[in-house]
Amino acid sequence: MKLSDFPDDIKPYLIPKPNGDMFYRCLGCNKTFGIEKLLYTCPACNQVLLLYDNHFNSLKDIPGNLWHKIFDYRKMLNLPAVKGIYRFHEFIGSVIPLESIVYLGEGHTPVIRANKTLEAAAGGPFFFKNDGQNPSASFKDRGMASALSYIQFLIHSGKLSEVLAICASTGDTSASAALYGSYLTPHIKSAVLLPHKKVTPQQLSQPLGSGAVVFEMPGVFDDCMKVVESLSSQYKVALLNSKNAWRILGQESYSYEIAQEFEYDLADKVIILPIGNAGNLSAVMSGFIKFYEAGIINTLPKIIGVQSSHADPVFRYYSEPDPAKRKFVPVAVKPSVAQAAMIGNPVSMPRIIHLENAYNEFAGKQKVFFVQVEEQSIMDWGLKANRNGHIACTHGGESLAAFVKARSLGLIDANEVGVIDSTAHAIKFSGFQDMYFQKTIPADFEVSSNPELINLPVYLRPNDLEKVPEPGKPLEGKDLEIFINRISDEIAAYLKLSK
Ligand SMILES: *Cc1c(COP(=O)(O)O)cnc(C)c1O
Ligand SMILES: [Zn+2]
Repeated sequence: MKLSDFPDDIKPYLIPKPNGDMFYRCLGCNKTFGIEKLLYTCPACNQVLLLYDNHFNSLKDIPGNLWHKIFDYRKMLNLPAVKGIYRFHEFIGSVIPLESIVYLGEGHTPVIRANKTLEAAAGGPFFFKNDGQNPSASFKDRGMASALSYIQFLIHSGKLSEVLAICASTGDTSASAALYGSYLTPHIKSAVLLPHKKVTPQQLSQPLGSGAVVFEMPGVFDDCMKVVESLSSQYKVALLNSKNAWRILGQESYSYEIAQEFEYDLADKVIILPIGNAGNLSAVMSGFIKFYEAGIINTLPKIIGVQSSHADPVFRYYSEPDPAKRKFVPVAVKPSVAQAAMIGNPVSMPRIIHLENAYNEFAGKQKVFFVQVEEQSIMDWGLKANRNGHIACTHGGESLAAFVKARSLGLIDANEVGVIDSTAHAIKFSGFQDMYFQKTIPADFEVSSNPELINLPVYLRPNDLEKVPEPGKPLEGKDLEIFINRISDEIAAYLKLSK
């Protein structure tokens, strides 16, 4: 819609102006630091940081229902900078001018109601939010758009010139970092560090295709993370892991979009998402808290974080009911089909502890829960979702498995509705589907193939036919006729078709 056509009371708010006063705060020692420099950890105590805005309180001067209109009308603007996560500019990166915003189509991902069959199987109503429909096919693009917009802002304001962006990854962070980095060529060069053979071929192809330098090393993600932490503390590189607080900030858009999708009424909603490095859960809690504090939503939704029993340090931490007795112990991970969440020592654990506590306090009761699921149910629920019209990846399967488990544990009431995060696109993890269908998943995954879910191609090559077409050698005339008839007869017989 043209700017002149918007209602007059909305016009002054429609196009956001850079107007924040942002700073980092350390979750360890509480010290604050300006944002003119890229910081990953506290220079004083080395703990992780979160970003805050000194102007946040002034956002409360705008009534909640006016915010609803601002965001809803902004959806109709043909202005790329505010089409994605920066529709919520005042909450996402209030200092960033629109001309520094990098928009590659991230955010505004669809929320899809499950069909009757799948809801009956899962035991209740739910939606998938398809974050696999982001440009690099995972939710990581939300945080990367934020981090790279901030870096571009530093470049535009002359504080940075050339940047070497680096990250460790279970596959999707590197895909996203390399994509956004390549858009900012020649100012940004990307290097990514992957655990050898622990990312899928699709995920490996992504940073290669974007032109990043791709390093592979032995070990798991946690080992790669140690290396990039060492590099970023000694050399001039921009760390793009979710240790970077700008990533968290951008991923808060996931919560804002859910609020908008359900017309800012989240009273009966249960948000379910997988936990790996714990950046996403941190962001989602933080996002809902901000909208709640600003009066944009009146109820904080329930949140359920899920981990596989093969990589469950956060679940273990919270399985101790007494907060005073909780002790964080990293775990050695075992192979998981939810491979992007196969992390034993999540970098954002201090953020989780801080935000879980704040969330429950704002809610006035416990609203954040943690659930553990088995590899078998991750795989089975993911495949069931795919058979019912969804593009859920294995982590979407993990979230759905957690929905089912949480219902059986009584953590979700009969009237509550799930909003389930499918964090990536199914095709990124189709190798697990292939192995499941071919019954070749290695034993240490502890997944066996349910025959009812197996689906394999049917090869039609009638043995008694001497002549079949081959590339470059087509059949003709009578031979072609015989061949076509035989193949169609076999298909008709297989499908038991009637004439
Ligand atoms: C990164 C990732 C996760 C885990 O998110 P964290 O923020 O690391 O907790 C889950 N699913 C997919 C597909 C991912 O790429
Ligand atoms: Zn500190």
